[in-house]
Amino acid sequence: MGSGRSACSRRALLAGAVLPLTAAAAAASGPRRRPRRERPQPYFPGHGSYGHRTVAYDLELGYDPGAGWLDGHARIEAVANGAVDRVALDLARLEVHEARLDDRPVAFRRKGGKLLISTPRTLEAGRPFALDIRYGGRPRPVPSQFGPIGWDRTGDDHDGTLVASQPVGAPSWFPCNDRPDDKASYTFGITVPVGHQALANGSLVEHRRNGASARWTYHHPGPMASYLAAVYTGRFARETWTPRDTGAPVPVHIACPAGTAKEVRHDLARQGRILRVFTDLFGDYPFESYGVVVVDAELAAPVENQTLSVFGTNHMDGRRTWETLVAHETAHQWFGNSVGLGDWQHIWLNEGFATYAEWLWSEHLDEDDADTLARRARDELAGRRQNLRIADPGRRHLFDDRVYVRGACALHALRLAVGDTRFFRVLRTWHEARRGGFADTDAFLAHAARVTGRDVADVLGPWLFEPRVPKYAPA
Ligand SMILES: [Zn+2]
Repeated sequence: MGSGRSACSRRALLAGAVLPLTAAAAAASGPRRRPRRERPQPYFPGHGSYGHRTVAYDLELGYDPGAGWLDGHARIEAVANGAVDRVALDLARLEVHEARLDDRPVAFRRKGGKLLISTPRTLEAGRPFALDIRYGGRPRPVPSQFGPIGWDRTGDDHDGTLVASQPVGAPSWFPCNDRPDDKASYTFGITVPVGHQALANGSLVEHRRNGASARWTYHHPGPMASYLAAVYTGRFARETWTPRDTGAPVPVHIACPAGTAKEVRHDLARQGRILRVFTDLFGDYPFESYGVVVVDAELAAPVENQTLSVFGTNHMDGRRTWETLVAHETAHQWFGNSVGLGDWQHIWLNEGFATYAEWLWSEHLDEDDADTLARRARDELAGRRQNLRIADPGRRHLFDDRVYVRGACALHALRLAVGDTRFFRVLRTWHEARRGGFADTDAFLAHAARVTGRDVADVLGPWLFEPRVPKYAPA
């Protein structure tokens, strides 16, 4: 998630919140398939289950924009982690009509934000199973300390919809195992009236008209965490820019309200170049495509949904005022999405890296180089309250701009200590080693030590584990 135009302006912004609008609206240490621990997520103890891991979500969604009504059918393929008599999913508010386990009806009940499904027999560890959940209602964003998150309506006439779920808004629109380390493949079949379009992560594999409605089918092999799954509906102007057009390694899909197309085209004109530069710095782009959707809403911050970042119309002014955030969300495709989080407390691995990528983009443009920006950022941090240990900032400070900036400063301290060649080797091999998986702070420290051949704890430790803002070591 981006948070602001620059280090100095971030503090005023609420990350992740969808602001009330104009007239109306308002990512272990271990391979990804292995459960890492049998305890709740410390920052969001009510979310997610360690009883199973998800392999695939197939979401069939019929949406009526006039009524704001969603009819959903989620088919979830999963594997039991241990012997379980009950499968727990996260789902907020929407009504559940039927649950089936391996194609047979099963009993279920709701408790808080959970959908609890009884299994007729114990599911033994390693047993694959399939759930079918039929559900529906009027999805609404879920309230959170970061503002309302998840599914929301867009436009003055509420004609469109958006999803911006980070960190725990996914249950606002589909039943899921809402943990950042539970990654799966996704298929979306979205039916909307003709004249509307539907967008989702991954590639459009079919568009079929049926009378007054049309079904848009997207597939993303992922693996993807639930908070990065996203669907958009509404009336968009859409374009696809080929690698030949842009120099990017993959096609770039753009969608925006028709009235903003000119500004969006200008502000995203260097999107392909950003992808190319980051591919050179971080290694192969991890997914099949990249896209930006600009929704008819003002967002406090863009969000880096996998393969499809979302921006508000307020981020597109025809002057590239927010290009820093365009770079930031692009970098998250490597760091945050491809290399996900074992747990939310390691958020600096997402935001510190994406913020450092902003500085690298500035350096690439021959504007301020990363060293200038990192020193300025360090001095600003030193002038503020020093009470954060960014390796575990606490839920309240999950999207505190100091986590972003200090995380980037930590990376710069590493770069100064080991030199450019080894520093960029650390970044590239980090992505290579963890691609499609997840990680934590200790794993990064171990990785950096291995690649650089030195103990990096003396360099990174004060930045990550202590509240006082350190100085960079003299050159
Ligand atoms: Zn971010």
